[in-house]
Amino acid sequence: MSQIDDILLKHWGFASFRPLQRDIIESVMLGHDTLGLLPTGGGKSITFQVPALALPGMAIVVTPLISLMKDQVDNLKQAGIKGVYLHSGLTPRESRLAIDKCRHGKVKLLYISPEKLRGENFIAELRLMDVSLIVVDEAHCISQWGYDFRPSYLKLSALRDIFPDVPVLALTATATPEVARDIQDQLRFGKDAQVFAGSFARDNLSYVVRYGDSKTDMLLRVLSNTTGTAIVYVRSRRRTRELAEVIASAGISADHYHAGLTPQDKEDRQNRWKQNEVRVMVATNAFGMGIDKPDVRVVVHHDMPSSLEEYYQEAGRAGRDGKAAYAVVLANNRDKSTLSRRLAEAFPDKEVVTRVYELAGNYLNVAVGSGYGRLFEFNFAGFCETYKLQPNIARSSLLILSRSGYIDYVDEIATRSRLMITADKGDLYGLRLDEKTDSVLQAVLRSYPGLFADYVQIYESELSLRTGLTEQEVYESLLLLARQRVLHYVPKKQTPYLMYTTGREEPRYVKYPVEVYEKQRERMASRIEAMKRFVFNETECRVAGMLSYFGEESPRACGKCDVCRSHRQTQRHESKEQEGKKRANVLRLMNQPGGHTADYVAEQLSLTRDEVIEITRGLLDSGDLDAGAISRVIGKQ
Ligand code: ADP
Ligand code: MG
Repeated sequence: MSQIDDILLKHWGFASFRPLQRDIIESVMLGHDTLGLLPTGGGKSITFQVPALALPGMAIVVTPLISLMKDQVDNLKQAGIKGVYLHSGLTPRESRLAIDKCRHGKVKLLYISPEKLRGENFIAELRLMDVSLIVVDEAHCISQWGYDFRPSYLKLSALRDIFPDVPVLALTATATPEVARDIQDQLRFGKDAQVFAGSFARDNLSYVVRYGDSKTDMLLRVLSNTTGTAIVYVRSRRRTRELAEVIASAGISADHYHAGLTPQDKEDRQNRWKQNEVRVMVATNAFGMGIDKPDVRVVVHHDMPSSLEEYYQEAGRAGRDGKAAYAVVLANNRDKSTLSRRLAEAFPDKEVVTRVYELAGNYLNVAVGSGYGRLFEFNFAGFCETYKLQPNIARSSLLILSRSGYIDYVDEIATRSRLMITADKGDLYGLRLDEKTDSVLQAVLRSYPGLFADYVQIYESELSLRTGLTEQEVYESLLLLARQRVLHYVPKKQTPYLMYTTGREEPRYVKYPVEVYEKQRERMASRIEAMKRFVFNETECRVAGMLSYFGEESPRACGKCDVCRSHRQTQRHESKEQEGKKRANVLRLMNQPGGHTADYVAEQLSLTRDEVIEITRGLLDSGDLDAGAISRVIGKQ
């Protein structure tokens, strides 16, 4: 099938496929449902982008990573491929534009977030599209047994009903064997389904766990004993800043990153780090997804993830260029109780969950029996503040309520500001505008091409630099232009949403299915156990332990992790000790009056004759024995 090689070369400039890419592509092109398990950075995108180009219709790609959709589509554009994306953060007009392009066969890839499949109108639109392939990226999200289950993924089977003959390609970088099985069941894979699993071993990565009281000291030691770009993962936003300051004051350039920063700020920090202006990024797990920096040399986990799945993904951001890199976990005994506490926080008592349900209803003024189908912007921080709720507990409760079917709670969808010019080009020049507003409009026109055809993402901060106005003034000018119908402006925002998926219930009727509560808690407990085993075990190769957790059969010891290294050291140590004993014994016998033959010494000490001669020569060289002794040995054969 050389057509796909041609496509790979023509659009991406790659001369050959990576392991399993070709198998996966050929399988879907033959119409088989296919599951591809490839590590992060293994090149999963190519496995659907190439078939999308080769097949007559388009590919629908479901992905939960809304924040990455735009990047993906931009990257496609660079490869000369037309793609669009749809998620619930877009305006109706933006959605309309994207859908029309799909309907008219103008695009090869449509990225959607799973919750889009809830809309009946959208489903009706889908039916009118010519679809050749359905792709489920991050497919582990469909499994309740996985570490990142998302209820909205369960809607994916709708795609099966709309397109019964279209093959499904499911892709993930993390699936235990039971999750891999579950993905196929949930997506109703056909009889001729194929599974391709690449090895998750990363030969250039050395996994190391360091134990000690002061994590800060250990961290600074790791960073000063290594060179090159580093990521340090912590679990709290506040700590990203604090630690970055500590590192910087030790003379190592560092910055911090978390989901609470503004989109512009995030992008700036990310760019400085990517361009090596900053060496160390201290971040929460919000950092790294979709960041393809190949030369990260060290990933340090200051705080422990709750599962090996997350750990593997985050650590795997080191050394994507194939050169030697380190993945280091800093651990102490407190981590064990921290992990256990996370389990308790993720599953508050059921009474607590129900109380949160009550309070949310009160907060949103939803009366018992009403609310069904209503979507609310949900001020989570304000909610916790009002009722003095601990945010971790409140969030877990909302998620449990979501999984139990009462509400649908979506954490912080961040959107950037965007706008589109709605007036005709000619009309723009006849406008009567005040000076400020006019300068903003001119700056917009100069800075962002393509505004007449489509929504374009803009940055108020950039416009503020260009015009010398404050961001607030820019914002107000844009609102003014929108009121005058010159443009359509969608300001950025960052809000969680809460939707009632059934009318508000009385507390006594709120029930939590075993599958949602007890079973999930068990699973989380066993993931945490696996994480603890990985970190606190001192005898099993860390890589072998991790790979067997991911279902690889009898993986080899890696020879590079700290456990393997310390084994080798003890072995070396032991053999030295034994060597010394042998020498002493040989010396003792040889020095006995009259001496002994080599055969006699060998027999006495259970050594071979050659060994005895070898040791005797060594003793002679070191001057411990005189030449007479050796001639006795060699002579009396
Ligand atoms: P994944 O989704 O599996 O984490 P991506 O699809 O993002 O990985 O690909 C990771 C990187 O590998 C990208 O930079 C991509 O361009 C590159 N890549 C993928 N396939 C090939 C190939 N056949 N040859 C060279 N580079 C490739
Ligand atoms: Mg990917």
